[in-house]
Amino acid sequence: MTAVQVPTIKLLIDGQFVESKTEQWRDVINPATQEVLAKVPFATAEEIHAAVASAKKAFKTWRKTPIGARARIFLKYQQLIRENMAELAALLTAEQGKTLADAEGDVFRGLEVVEHAAAIGNLQLGELANNVANGVDTYTLLQPLGVCAGITPFNFPAMIPLWMFPMAIVTGNTFVLKPSEQDPMVTMRLVELAVEAGIPAGVLNVIHGGPDAVNGICDHQDIKAVSFVGSTHVGTHVYNRSSLAGKRVQCMMGAKNHGVVMPDANKEQTLNAIAGAAFGAAGQRCMALPVIVLVGEAQSWLPELVAKAKTLKVNAGCQAGTDVGPVISKQALARISDLIESGASQGAQMDLDGRNPSVPGFEQGNFVGPTIFSGVNTSMRIYQEEIFGPVLCVMQADTLEQAIELINANPNGNGTAIFTRSGATARRFQEEIDVGQVGINVPIPVPVPMFSFTGSRASKLGDLGPYGKQVVQFYTQTKTVTARWFDEDEAVGALNTTISLK
Ligand code: NAD
Repeated sequence: MTAVQVPTIKLLIDGQFVESKTEQWRDVINPATQEVLAKVPFATAEEIHAAVASAKKAFKTWRKTPIGARARIFLKYQQLIRENMAELAALLTAEQGKTLADAEGDVFRGLEVVEHAAAIGNLQLGELANNVANGVDTYTLLQPLGVCAGITPFNFPAMIPLWMFPMAIVTGNTFVLKPSEQDPMVTMRLVELAVEAGIPAGVLNVIHGGPDAVNGICDHQDIKAVSFVGSTHVGTHVYNRSSLAGKRVQCMMGAKNHGVVMPDANKEQTLNAIAGAAFGAAGQRCMALPVIVLVGEAQSWLPELVAKAKTLKVNAGCQAGTDVGPVISKQALARISDLIESGASQGAQMDLDGRNPSVPGFEQGNFVGPTIFSGVNTSMRIYQEEIFGPVLCVMQADTLEQAIELINANPNGNGTAIFTRSGATARRFQEEIDVGQVGINVPIPVPVPMFSFTGSRASKLGDLGPYGKQVVQFYTQTKTVTARWFDEDEAVGALNTTISLK
């Protein structure tokens, strides 16, 4: 298993990029060609322990590093990411499959969090109340927790690691990252740049692997907080792990996002937005729109939507003009194909069948083109399961109320969008919908870094979200200090704080 003609992905332990001693390796595969790009190790228990031990040791000094010194590392880091953008995007496209434009977007949305981390001087601030009693002040300190860990999914291998370790580290913590084993290469390039930017040895560590590595991290007694992004079943498993009881845990999980199309919406803009949000990145976004609800007269727009979807070009992500790249793996393709089959057999109307597209030059790729079902109901598997491919379910409602009821009854609450020209309709939707991210004529409303990513119901566990203000709370412990100072001549009345001495 360990015979390696291709590069091996390294672990990062105590500032050194090291070869794993494991016997267990997995291929990192280009989803457009099946070329083996690298081999990724499944780290041993000793290696996981060494990574945590290194982070624990580094915390002793890193937590006291001046806030300006921490901020400057991330200023340098954002510059290095910008300078290496083209290389990062190409690496990401090769191992993940998305188009080069989407890959740059993936890196860019992470870069924005790094820029935000560089502003930590304005974020990690306590409060102070002067004279809460005579001569007494009360103030808060936001102190780092210790060793924190992050576990990331395959679909945003640049952005999601960058949601995690920059904010954890800049607030004074040390970190152990476990990237997706399906596409760890761009993550590791970003980690190399972070080390180049000046993150000291032990402050950032990386181990690789699958479920055993995740469990090993969660069960380690020195881990103080875990940030997880991935599917609902794994996130729920992490959140409920008994070893994490009483610790900080945030799990951002699966989705089934609905877009609501009102008949007064700008038709051309709306149909373009839906085609991009349903089929872009091959539907492998947690914020994709895999369900749309056409309300009233908007139900007649279906043929135009189908026509638009037919114009999208399915091809390898590295090819110019590609709209829909391959999905991540043969297993993912088989699962998506099975779900498409179930839609047809459960009675949905297949308006567009994207299976087995012809992609000359990339015959081995994991391709499935835009697929549209109408007449979908809530008992069908294509509605109930997260397909995570370019498959759109079209549903109908007579009124906005019906659409809201449908969405709020779905177990997931990650993202949603409404398309309308009516401010009153949009505001009503915003108030009544129980979903974390709400777009108003914005199909994929991922918050910018001064806000936090969130989620409702089954899409999120834990109170605080990644990045933004909430993550400063997540990665710090508030300490409240009540202080009184005496001058030399203030012996009288020391036992009675209600006596004013001056
Ligand atoms: P996944 O849950 O399979 O994997 C996520 C991480 O968990 C990986 O690092 C993986 O190694 C690990 N893992 C996998 N199986 C495990 C197990 N049995 N026990 C312990 N750890 C395990 O997710 P994925 O397929 O990589 O990513 C796609 C999923 O992530 C989708 O459900 C998508 O909606 C979700 N996602 C959510 C958000 C969000 O912010 N809500 C963002 C991106 C992706």
